[in-house]
Amino acid sequence: MPSTPGGRTYSFFGAKDQMGKRINYRKIAFDTYGPVCAHCGFGIPAVLEVAHIDGNRENNDPNNLVVLCPNCHKMHDLDLISTNTIIQMRDRPKIVDWSKRMKDAGVKAALKRKRRAAARKAVVTRRRKQQSLNQEEGDTP
Ligand SMILES: [Zn+2]
Repeated sequence: MPSTPGGRTYSFFGAKDQMGKRINYRKIAFDTYGPVCAHCGFGIPAVLEVAHIDGNRENNDPNNLVVLCPNCHKMHDLDLISTNTIIQMRDRPKIVDWSKRMKDAGVKAALKRKRRAAARKAVVTRRRKQQSLNQEEGDTP
């Protein structure tokens, strides 16, 4: 395990305090915010990362932690996503606006019905062709 001149040891999961107790900031962040990227909603826990908002890896206060996917984490590090945005996205209640989600649901459903009907018709046509083919074969000696 790598060690700093200060004598603290670091593991993949977080720093150890002087008592040698592991401070698992991943667990703190996951317990507080859930295993979901605060910015885009990606949710495979093994892939998710936990960022320290102030850049201080020893500040494991939940307010300083945010769960991010590797993409959003990198984009935050490059300031393509601002810290304010990350904090806002982390803390805002997520309410689905179903009118936005469903705006083309009717069109999609109609298209699906149309495709299903076409598929059913194709099956019937295929069966009919096969039957007439079988009859022709039966007719020839
Ligand atoms: Zn993300």
